[in-house]
Amino acid sequence: MKLLRVNMSQLQARWEPVPSSYEQLGGRALIAKMLLDEIPPACDALGPHNKLIFTPGLLGGAGVTTAGRLSVGSKSPLTGGIKETNAGGTAGDTLGKLGIKAIVVEEQVKQGAFYLLHITGDSAELLPADDLRGLGTYATSDRLQERLGADCTVISIGQAGEFLMLGAGICTTGERDQRSNHAARGGLGAVMGNKGLKAIVIDKPVGKTIPFADAELFRKTARAYAQQMINDPKLGTQGSQHLYGTASIVAAVNEMGSLPTRNFSSGNFQQSTELRGEHLRELILTREGKIGTRCMPGCVIACRNQCVDDTGMPIVGTMQFETIALVGSNLEIGNLDDVARLNYMCNDFGLDTIETGAALGIACEAGLVRFGNTEDILSLLSQVGEGTVLGRVIGNGAVVAGRVLGIRRVPAVLGQAMPGYDPRSLKGNGVTYATSPQGADHTAGNAFGARKEVNPLGITGQKELSLKLQIIAAMLDSTGLCLFARPPVIADPQLMVDMLNGIYGWGWTKDDLNRFNRDVLRNELEFNRRAGITPADYRIPEYMREEPLAPHNTVFDVPDSELDTVFETL
Ligand code: SF4
Repeated sequence: MKLLRVNMSQLQARWEPVPSSYEQLGGRALIAKMLLDEIPPACDALGPHNKLIFTPGLLGGAGVTTAGRLSVGSKSPLTGGIKETNAGGTAGDTLGKLGIKAIVVEEQVKQGAFYLLHITGDSAELLPADDLRGLGTYATSDRLQERLGADCTVISIGQAGEFLMLGAGICTTGERDQRSNHAARGGLGAVMGNKGLKAIVIDKPVGKTIPFADAELFRKTARAYAQQMINDPKLGTQGSQHLYGTASIVAAVNEMGSLPTRNFSSGNFQQSTELRGEHLRELILTREGKIGTRCMPGCVIACRNQCVDDTGMPIVGTMQFETIALVGSNLEIGNLDDVARLNYMCNDFGLDTIETGAALGIACEAGLVRFGNTEDILSLLSQVGEGTVLGRVIGNGAVVAGRVLGIRRVPAVLGQAMPGYDPRSLKGNGVTYATSPQGADHTAGNAFGARKEVNPLGITGQKELSLKLQIIAAMLDSTGLCLFARPPVIADPQLMVDMLNGIYGWGWTKDDLNRFNRDVLRNELEFNRRAGITPADYRIPEYMREEPLAPHNTVFDVPDSELDTVFETL
């Protein structure tokens, strides 16, 4: 395998062998080690010393179902700490097939120009891309695929990244006409924009396969893994993930009183039935949109749903639970067509829908626009693409919006907005938000699926549950697996060990895998410590400790002493 180092001040791209210390790393694990080794943790995230890393997980390119996610990592301008955010689509698998361990983007362009990195097989070059300036992610990927081939993968930023907004993410294309796969969190689109990189285009590798140390072991295990998912009642063709996508959990999150509503002031939304996965499916099928599509080839879950408007025109490639929660119930919008329009605009500007939905909730609370008034909210959001002062307030996320608009109730931890689970009624997620080196991020350890094991309203067991889930999340994010594919590897980690040994021949045991997963968190925590982040920076906002949340009237009351000792057994 090889590394591609891209120096944006010298406009050079050069291949390097992979140092031995990085050989057994991929995805989030590689990002944690590389950032710790190669950048000063206290550096300016939007300065020349920060680096932006694109890397497949360790299973990337091998053809394991759902394992083609692309990890993007950097010091986050939003949290001030380490950030790994990942996306589906074809990028992770493509990089894996090409034997590219990582693309490492260094320094920044002079004089604000924009460039495009084009990778074809063994060659890589930077090309001027000022003609793409000001384009959204849809137009950018359309134009580049027209120019360079319909089957190439395009990774790009929209206007939000160009304007260095802290809510900016990075978009990647996926299978067939999939456009909107976003490595959304942590403001890494701003890092890409700051470096002067508008897009990366990777030509489809033809006839490339990765070498296997033990092809038989790999094939046998990968097949068994896929079969377990097909057989799983939640994941298979009759499972809720396939039938309704992630929107399948809207009803359950609302019932448990954790659905962000009216800027996180209630956990129940009266119109939640309008936002349910079942309703989304019905709407799409009635209009002849597509259900059960994939973001990447070979996924056996196929959770995507293509939303179309009432004329049958596609609006977004998939509507996810987090988006429905943050730009739906959180803004008191109880209409899926309206949520889809907001979703489309965020996708096109290259904005994180979680960060942006939280910022818009704050704008509603401040009286800038009214809760539930989609047209006014869309009009405010449209200013992000124009780069007006108000647009920049929204595009810079919840904390900036709260400060500028004088709102104290800001649902964020470590500078990053909370996803679609209020921590007062799902306290395991509160512990994850308040301890993860990634800030408020459900993908770092989501306790929703464990609500029957540990009472979500109680304190007991939350610390242990969060640690367990954070370790599993580190494994998924380092191997490139989709979060939805976790049940088989949680039940039997030997599956993961055998797949890795089949590819690389490392002879790992379950203990080695466990050490590997824990090292990811250790490196990330150490990075944040060196960046000057203290336990006080990770705390759940004070108002959530004092203001009871309807309908259970609970506050987040896990004591600091518990939070401060989550990692003591790491
Ligand atoms: S389950 Fe959904 S998000 Fe995950 S890989 Fe499959 S299509 Fe993509």
